[in-house]
Amino acid sequence: MTDILDLFPQYAEELKLLRKTAREFAQRNFSPELARELDKKEEFPWDLYRKAGELGLLAPSIPTEYNGGGFSTYLADIVVTEELVRAEPTLGTAIMSGPFSSHLLYFFGTEEQKKKYLPPVYKGETTFFGAYTEPEHGTDITQLNTVAERKGDKFIIRGMKTFITNAPTAKYGVLLAQTEPEKRHRGQTLFIIHTDWPGVTIRKLTGKMGQRSIPVGEIYLDNVEVPIDYVVGGEKGINQGFYWTLAYFNVSRIGPAAMAVGLMLSAFDKALEYAKKRVQFGQQIINFQLIQEKLGRMAMLIEAARSLVYRAAYYVDDYIKFKIDPRAMAAITSAAKVFATDAANQVIDDAIQIHGGYGYFEEFDVERYWRDHRVTRIYEGTNEINLLTIVDALRRDVWKP
Ligand SMILES: Cc1cc2nc3c(=O)[nH]c(=O)nc-3n(C[C@H](O)[C@H](O)[C@H](O)COP(=O)(O)OP(=O)(O)OC[C@H]3O[C@@H](n4cnc5c(N)ncnc54)[C@H](O)[C@@H]3O)c2cc1C
Repeated sequence: MTDILDLFPQYAEELKLLRKTAREFAQRNFSPELARELDKKEEFPWDLYRKAGELGLLAPSIPTEYNGGGFSTYLADIVVTEELVRAEPTLGTAIMSGPFSSHLLYFFGTEEQKKKYLPPVYKGETTFFGAYTEPEHGTDITQLNTVAERKGDKFIIRGMKTFITNAPTAKYGVLLAQTEPEKRHRGQTLFIIHTDWPGVTIRKLTGKMGQRSIPVGEIYLDNVEVPIDYVVGGEKGINQGFYWTLAYFNVSRIGPAAMAVGLMLSAFDKALEYAKKRVQFGQQIINFQLIQEKLGRMAMLIEAARSLVYRAAYYVDDYIKFKIDPRAMAAITSAAKVFATDAANQVIDDAIQIHGGYGYFEEFDVERYWRDHRVTRIYEGTNEINLLTIVDALRRDVWKP
């Protein structure tokens, strides 16, 4: 019994089937050649994204009425993310980032908003964005420069967002703006914004180190008129934006953690295979104890990270039923995110080292894995701020290891 899914007997059977579906999808459709090409061209894998949507892989734990996969546990999302990223990191991360932030609308949107906006995303017809970051407000979003001024039954939004994943490809997404600037974070609201609305301009950002097939852009809002119906959650969502954003990230940051596990597994598979094949001093390099030490440490880090990530994902099911203190949940998911992404830094670097000079060239792929991994320590809260989140829970006595 070494399959991690056996730790969750109530779901193990259905999750193994889901993993098989994801694995077969990847085997049929993924190739390193395609990944290298899209990485170079900085293009999104639209065709694969649509196919993944047809198979229900884009949002496994979302109910089928919104075109999700209908699984009753968030573990399903992690299983698919890990599997697709392990199969091909560039393609897997791009596909699983396509619906980024749509869970926020699922958690807090009105029924009408969810029915209208979620199905096209999960069918793979459009990507989705979540726009929080601004040029002057990255880690600290407690006061935003983007302002939504109320005029009767509509808002007029002015401002700019940067580093927004999927902004160049999405038809719509959610955006955090300051509705009452003097109230700082207590006066922020989330809006649904369409990218083709008058006054909305998108500028694609190019030249990223990695995850180059995931489009990222800036969003400019020039007096954009937004009727009140587009406030996430309707009237009751006004001034809830900051809190709902944090509540969403308590779940969402498990995404990059699961990606990190997939990336590590992919790099490890390559390194192990290479160590068994490469001959120096008349023998396979896996015979050298300094290589063995690396492989042993890599396997250990992967196992530890994976355990933490699955455990954090398991808690999501109770968290969304309000059975877990949000700050405790924040600490658990932050720990998983920081540990897994820091572990990936070490593991993928070791994989490059085991490949020697070949590891530095694109043909052997591990250099691309490292580039694709690196941002997971920066977005969804930098690892520094996630560590502080853990301490916040400790200081408030709501959680401890
Ligand atoms: C590829 C990519 C995709 C992204 N996608 C999105 C997206 O879809 N939506 C979105 O809204 N944003 C997105 N982001 C933005 C991302 O979330 C921010 O880059 C991140 O939150 C950090 O903000 P910053 O870049 O302004 O860095 P800063 O906040 O300026 O931080 C700089 C450094 O200071 C450290 N620091 C800051 N405050 C503290 C503190 N209190 N204590 C200790 N250290 C601190 C940080 O950890 C970091 O090391 C994306 C970024 C990238 C690179």
